[in-house]
Amino acid sequence: PTAGQPIPVTLIPGDGIGPEITQATRKVLTALGAPFLWDEQKAGATALEEEGTPLPEATLRSLERTRLALKAPLATPSGTGFRSVNVTLRQKFDLYANIRPARTLIPQEDLRRYDGLDIVLIRENIEGYYAARDYYLPQGDDPQGMALSAGYTTRAECERIVTHAFEYALAHGRKKVTLVHKANILKLMSGLFLETGRKVAARYEGRIACDERIVDACAMQLCLNPSQFDVIVTTNLFGDILSDQISGLTGGLGLAPGANIGENMAIFEAVHGSAPDIAGQNKANPTALLLASALMLDHTGHEALATRLRNAITTTLQKGTRTGDLGGTATTEQFTAALIKTLEDA
Ligand code: NAD
Repeated sequence: PTAGQPIPVTLIPGDGIGPEITQATRKVLTALGAPFLWDEQKAGATALEEEGTPLPEATLRSLERTRLALKAPLATPSGTGFRSVNVTLRQKFDLYANIRPARTLIPQEDLRRYDGLDIVLIRENIEGYYAARDYYLPQGDDPQGMALSAGYTTRAECERIVTHAFEYALAHGRKKVTLVHKANILKLMSGLFLETGRKVAARYEGRIACDERIVDACAMQLCLNPSQFDVIVTTNLFGDILSDQISGLTGGLGLAPGANIGENMAIFEAVHGSAPDIAGQNKANPTALLLASALMLDHTGHEALATRLRNAITTTLQKGTRTGDLGGTATTEQFTAALIKTLEDA
C-alpha cells in the first residue's frame, strides 16, 4: 500500500457491463495499493430506473466535491429518450479535452492487426454537433419532414484544445501533432478549427512538428499506415469516430481508455459503451477501465503505480489470459485474478 493521503474519487459503476468491470477494477487497484477513496454514485439508465433521473443530485454533489471520477459506461437511448449523461457532464464541468491513448499491448500476429502502434487522439469534448440543439422543421404536410442540427465551434475552444494537444505532446515526449478537419466542406465550422490550429502550431515550431489531414483521408491512412501518426487533435464528432477506429487497430474497444480533462476536474472512463449484449455474463474485458485508472494514477502524480499497473496488464495479456473480445476464453473474474497474481508476483 502507498503512503500519503487517500484521494477521494467519485466512482460510477454505470450500466450494462459497468458494474462487472468496476468491481474488477476496484479489486486490482486494491491489490496495487492505489490510494483512492471511493465514493460510489449512480448515473445513467440504472439511476433513471432507481432514482427517477439519469443524473441524480447526489452524484453531482459528489463530483463537485471530489473533482475526480472513474466512470464506467452509461447507456444512452438512441433517437428519443434522455440526453447523454456523458455529454451533460462534459459540458457542465467544462471537461474540454478528451484524451484517448492507444498502444499495442498484444503481439499483433495473434490479432492480425498492427504492431508497434502508439497514437494519442485528443478530441475536443464540449462543442461541435454534440452541443447542438436538434429541431424538426415541416416539409409539405410532414411536420417532422426535416431534421436540423445546429453545431458550433468557437475560436477560443479551438485555441484551447489545440494548445492542450501541443502541451500534451511536449509533456509526453511526442514529436508530432496532426490537425484533423473537414475544412474543405464545413468551411466555417471546421475551417475555424484549422485556421486557429495553424496559428497555435506556429508557436511550437522547431519543438513539435505539425501536419494536417482531412478526416476521411485520415481514416483511410489510419488503416494503411497508422504508424505515421503520433498525436492527433480534432473536433468532437471526428474524434469520437476516429478514436474507435484507432482502438480497433490496437485490439478493440476492450483495450481503449479515455480521460475527460478540464481546468480543475477530470473524469476517467473506458472508451467503450455498456455492451448490453454481454452484460451480466462475466465476459467483459475490464482492461479499458483499468487503463483509465492508470491514466488517473498518472494524473494524480502516482506515475510509478500507473506503470506497474500497465506492465502487469501487458504481461497478463501476453501470457495469453484474455477475454473473448481478444479471442481468449477467460471470464472477467479469471482475467482479474490472473492480473492480481501478476501484480503480486512482480
Ligand atoms: P459498446 O461499446 O457498448 O459495444 C460495442 C461492441 O463491443 C459490443 O459487441 C460489445 O459487446 C463489445 N464490447 C464493448 N466493450 C467491451 C468490453 N469491455 N469487453 C468485451 N466486449 C466489449 O457500443 P454500443 O453497443 O454501440 O453501445 C451500447 C450503449 O453504450 C449505448 O447505450 C451507448 O449510448 C452507450 N455508450 C456509452 C459510452 C460511455 O458511457 N462512455 C460510450 C459509448 C457508448
